[in-house]
Amino acid sequence: MNKYTRYFKDSYGWDKLSTYLSIIGLLLMLSKYSSLFGLMLIAAATFRSISKNKYKRYRELQAFEDFSLIFRQRIYRLKQNLYSFRNYKTFKCPNCSQKLRVPRKQGKIVVTCKKCGTEFKKKS
Ligand SMILES: [Zn+2]
Repeated sequence: MNKYTRYFKDSYGWDKLSTYLSIIGLLLMLSKYSSLFGLMLIAAATFRSISKNKYKRYRELQAFEDFSLIFRQRIYRLKQNLYSFRNYKTFKCPNCSQKLRVPRKQGKIVVTCKKCGTEFKKKS
């Protein structure tokens, strides 16, 4: 067994973060303005996979997972808000300022405040 095979045997190996880094890197390389940065990301992904500091690489992966979870939650919330905006209209009760959500495109409707019972007409 030569020393190169031994080196790779002890290395951290390829993980999800390296995959993401190299995909983003490849995409950045498509544009000449960001190609250098893309190359750096691919180099970083390669460096991570042959690195021997497994603990540090594992911590990076964990940080990445945490970050992507927050990111996915944000996107989910944004989608929910968009859905809500498209399908519902929000009115403020003239009496107590309670926010009331009603379905859109119902024509003129009587909105009843769920907090104080005040009724008011609105176009939805
Ligand atoms: Zn009210």
